[in-house]
Amino acid sequence: MMTSTTAPITMSTLANSRTICSRCVMDTSDPDIAFDTEGVCRHCHGYEQQVLDQVRVGEEGRRLLENITRRIQAAGAGKRYDCIIGVSGGVDSTYVAWMVKKLGLRPLAVHLDNGWDSEIAVSNISTVLRKMGIDLHTEVLDWEEFKDIQLAFLRASTPDAEVPSDHAIFACLYHTATKFGVRHVITGVNTRTETHLPSAWSHGHFDYGYLKAVHRRHGARPIRTFPHYNFYQFVTGFRHTHETLNILNYVDYSKKDALVFLQSELGWRDYGGKHFESVYTRWYQGVYLPRKFGYDKRRSHFSSRICSGELTRDFALQELNKPTYDPRLQEEDCVYVAKKLSLNSDAFKAIMTAPPRRFQDYPSYEERMRSLWFKSAMGAYQFVKRHILRRNGGKPAWS
Ligand SMILES: [Zn+2]
Repeated sequence: MMTSTTAPITMSTLANSRTICSRCVMDTSDPDIAFDTEGVCRHCHGYEQQVLDQVRVGEEGRRLLENITRRIQAAGAGKRYDCIIGVSGGVDSTYVAWMVKKLGLRPLAVHLDNGWDSEIAVSNISTVLRKMGIDLHTEVLDWEEFKDIQLAFLRASTPDAEVPSDHAIFACLYHTATKFGVRHVITGVNTRTETHLPSAWSHGHFDYGYLKAVHRRHGARPIRTFPHYNFYQFVTGFRHTHETLNILNYVDYSKKDALVFLQSELGWRDYGGKHFESVYTRWYQGVYLPRKFGYDKRRSHFSSRICSGELTRDFALQELNKPTYDPRLQEEDCVYVAKKLSLNSDAFKAIMTAPPRRFQDYPSYEERMRSLWFKSAMGAYQFVKRHILRRNGGKPAWS
């Protein structure tokens, strides 16, 4: 399956002498990484399988996309919108907005304003959506409440300090879809560019049990308005009420080409690194994760793009030798983040130097799902379901 024939390379230039994959640039900064006998990491093997399972391009992709479009149009007939899309101002979500419009769909764009949008992201969203004639719904989080949740995660000392934003974004997408009676939620998730993501680097995005536990221990004020999943929605992933579609998996998508296209055709402006449309995300990925945990998310982004053939491994290695972003801006961001979160320099330093912890150090829905009572309840549910199905000749009694 894998074609590489070289052994894992030890980077002698790195102080802790990490081992790096012979195909991509993932290394032992992922504590759970494993290599095969040819030095190819488990993420690369996972990439092959996921692309095989989820990505359909060329004629097959075009045909599937036509079917999906017809299904969305039928479900949305008579409604003001037939699908919901998330927009961050970034390249992937903007390209999805363009694609959806080109397919003849009637989307409502949803943006979560968590208080950290860069000026360029806000301008991208309004410019591009106006040009395409797409309505925008912006959900503005209660800043004091959200700040308290973000601070709780920083004090929790896990690498999941971006979980509150990601959780709220997806909860907001599904809640808005429900509010407008829309079944289909279309995302900018792209298997070919987002597969090398170590669980240890970021975990529990949809797990409100984890979020609540962290906040209970490190937060200071009650959570009243924060958009979130409940346990049932966490277990089912909204599959009973909504269909989620990752349409970038059906086209020959190249981020590089999309970037050029969006700039020339829609007046979209580039803002630097992946997800740098938010100041907090830029600081989180470019300063917080690398300095506190030794995790450089560029490794995972580059690695997927190496496997997709969009980048060469040599190019990625050269880029990784450069700072995550301009060091002067990094220091400015530290001051900005501390000030916005009302942290004095001692409190900020305490967060940056506290011993790292893990997702598993806190209670979570995931932990609850592993419990004996949950497994027993699921077993009983499956038994009853099978029993009722048999009695009704294979047809569920509730359908
Ligand atoms: Zn690899």
